Amino acid sequence: MAELKGALIGCGFFAVNQMHGWRDAEGARIVAICDRDPARLKAVGDEFGITRRYTSAEDLFADGGFDFVDIATTVGSHRALVEMATRRGIATICQKPIAPSMEDAKAMVAACAKAGVPFMVHENFRWQSPIRAAKAAIDSGAIGEVFWGRVSFRSAYDVFSGQPYLATGKRFIIEDLGIHALDIARFLLGDASAVTARTQRVNPDIAGEDVATMLLDHHGGVTSVVDCSYATKLPVEPFPETLLEIDGSKGTLRLSQGYRLSVHSRDATRVEGVEPRLLPWASPPWHNIQESVALIQGHWIECLRAGREPETSGRDNLKTFALVEASYRGAAEGRTVPLAEFL
Ligand code: NAD
Repeated sequence: MAELKGALIGCGFFAVNQMHGWRDAEGARIVAICDRDPARLKAVGDEFGITRRYTSAEDLFADGGFDFVDIATTVGSHRALVEMATRRGIATICQKPIAPSMEDAKAMVAACAKAGVPFMVHENFRWQSPIRAAKAAIDSGAIGEVFWGRVSFRSAYDVFSGQPYLATGKRFIIEDLGIHALDIARFLLGDASAVTARTQRVNPDIAGEDVATMLLDHHGGVTSVVDCSYATKLPVEPFPETLLEIDGSKGTLRLSQGYRLSVHSRDATRVEGVEPRLLPWASPPWHNIQESVALIQGHWIECLRAGREPETSGRDNLKTFALVEASYRGAAEGRTVPLAEFL
């Protein structure tokens, strides 16, 4: 089968991981890149040997010659770029968060549906191999019927040095990091119908919230707690591990710091190391996230070829993004917010 050709827009902090992933991907390669910042464009172009370079996305699309576009810019540009792609009928991947508002997110999903173009949100945390291992254990039935869960990300890692814009936005941890944890909760425990949230700002030097605690009501009666913090100073820094506690009718599952997965049921307790692979281009502690980039890209190639909807399609991701919006509204108004207010 012919190799898929891709273009990447946004050659910033995270896109370098995406470029590494594409370089090693089977069945796809990046043929053109775009960034409005010429220095970043040059750095990525030189590192990955890409000669077709653009400072304008309009010019990139006008020249064409690719099957899909990978949008790795920050959120403010997502809608305009996705709509540009749909006008050219180009299959699209867009980084999370999908959009700054639910209205924009819905418009993007509708535009892709109308144009008949595949649309995936790069929601990669559910593709982390320790999270996939936990999902497989739950699906095996080992812990029985799940009734409660916790998805937790607590750290004091300095994310602001690599991504300074994170310190300046009115919204911070739920939109940037909590969004991943909320998506994992949906992935493991099913869709949610309502959320109750509290937010705090501990670091006085940033504009948004750096601590958030969410209580989710899932369809089917499961309750979960999704908590995240960038103000939690632990003896051993766990960044960027997402930890899990899942209780079922026959046992329990725990994904603990150091990538230890323990599955306890009536007859046995199985403990295994589920450390992610260290890809040749990866660097700890980021290797967990870096591996998930390669895995979601492989999923995209497979889906595009098979004409299948990706797991984290735009349509699916509206349900994760609705949890983000509902958490902010609920925290501001001090009430439980039904997701029906957004979906
Ligand atoms: P960044 O600011 O380092 O990079 C963004 C780049 O996009 C910049 O170089 C900027 O010049 C370019 N850009 C912006 N608008 C443009 C436009 N209209 N046309 C061309 N170029 C444009 O940001 P980042 O930290 O790399 O984040 C990018 C996205 O990736 C964000 O949405 C962020 O939330 C997401 N992200 C995801 C993960 C993950 O694990 N999935 C991790 C980090 C960041």
